[in-house]
Amino acid sequence: MKTYSDLIELHSHLYGSLSAEILYEIGKNNPNPRWHIFTESYEKLFHKKIDTKNFFKTFDSLDKFKELYYFLEKAPFEVFQSKFNLIIALSRFNPEEIREISKNVLRESANKGIKYSEFRIMYSPMALESDYLERTLAACIGLSEGEKYYNVKGRLVVSLHRNPGFEDQYSWLKKAMQEHKIISDYLVGIDFCNIEEGYSPKYKKDFFKKVLQDNELDQDNSLAILYHVGESFQDKSHLSACRWIAESSDFGAHRLGHCIALGEKIDKYFGIERLELREEFVDTNEYILSNYDDISQFGKFSEYEYFQSNLSKANSGNKDITISYDDTFLKNLETFRKYVIQKLIKNDTVVESCPSSNFLIGMIDTYENLPVKVFSETNLKLTIGADDPGIFNIDLQGEYKICESIGIPSDKLKSIILNSKQYTSEILSGKKNIAP
Ligand SMILES: [Zn+2]
Repeated sequence: MKTYSDLIELHSHLYGSLSAEILYEIGKNNPNPRWHIFTESYEKLFHKKIDTKNFFKTFDSLDKFKELYYFLEKAPFEVFQSKFNLIIALSRFNPEEIREISKNVLRESANKGIKYSEFRIMYSPMALESDYLERTLAACIGLSEGEKYYNVKGRLVVSLHRNPGFEDQYSWLKKAMQEHKIISDYLVGIDFCNIEEGYSPKYKKDFFKKVLQDNELDQDNSLAILYHVGESFQDKSHLSACRWIAESSDFGAHRLGHCIALGEKIDKYFGIERLELREEFVDTNEYILSNYDDISQFGKFSEYEYFQSNLSKANSGNKDITISYDDTFLKNLETFRKYVIQKLIKNDTVVESCPSSNFLIGMIDTYENLPVKVFSETNLKLTIGADDPGIFNIDLQGEYKICESIGIPSDKLKSIILNSKQYTSEILSGKKNIAP
């Protein structure tokens, strides 16, 4: 296996990048861990009690702690979230700690052969404007300090909340950029992550438009729009999840995280049934009818009338719709996916694919069936990320090794690394035109 150098990391979360070693130390030095954040979700999922009073006696070695912290077996998002909750519980998340962690995580990135890394950070839903300012400032200072010591560049992306309030959070960040040069220099994007279900991209359309207009008006403070989409879609079919991907791209997101619905092998779903929210079913059939001529060019696709009748059936009832993954559905999906991939290429939208994360949280059956493999065989703009390398106990180098092991040629991987330099938030948002 090759060792890849000058790696570019465009999809990682700052706290999810914490190694077990660092987190263990943080926890031991925290006099008041917010245990309930972790124990509530852990006990509900595993029906095991955690003795928080004697936590560091029970987990008296790093190895024992690693067993609790690492997420190494396929499980749904809730299980992953409970691991992340351990991070939230053990850390103080105050400006001093954020500054220190930003620096330390950047050092670890440099040690793993990374040249440039963007880290996402998310604040509590209750965070106020002052919290956004203090914490963002602390992270930017930490990254700038790290850059001085280690041969690596670090930039920050703030993940906003999907529910209402994101407009205010965005305006706080823009104000902070005006007032602090270091924030203007290091904050390069906004992101949306966490639970997707219930947050259709249609509710972000006007907001994305505003961000893009702001970018035009004030290029020096531009922010890229990053968007986790098509990763988890329990309430809808693959077809609707792919529609979300298409819409996010059309509305102007610069990079899309995961897009599992667009790239995972779908044959294994043959014969299953899935309940889809009626609203999604209606939106998808309307979308298809409005773009029918375009979509149907990409392969076998049901007649226009088929989608028309779907729509009238849905509009005449008020129940959710059972979708059968039969031959017709899978053929339509295949054609629709080709259409969406072409759209992403046309819109210059970058897809961020995270192999370990997709394998474990996306519960993809084999590494060979990872979306990254399908994406790498198209002309999509593609970058590879480690997502939460601390929790997955992997580094970006390891992610490239997975890609190599499933037959993605190493020349292709080298070109993905090289091209990723052109997909940094600063370049995509128009803030800078020089690659790192
Ligand atoms: Zn992510």
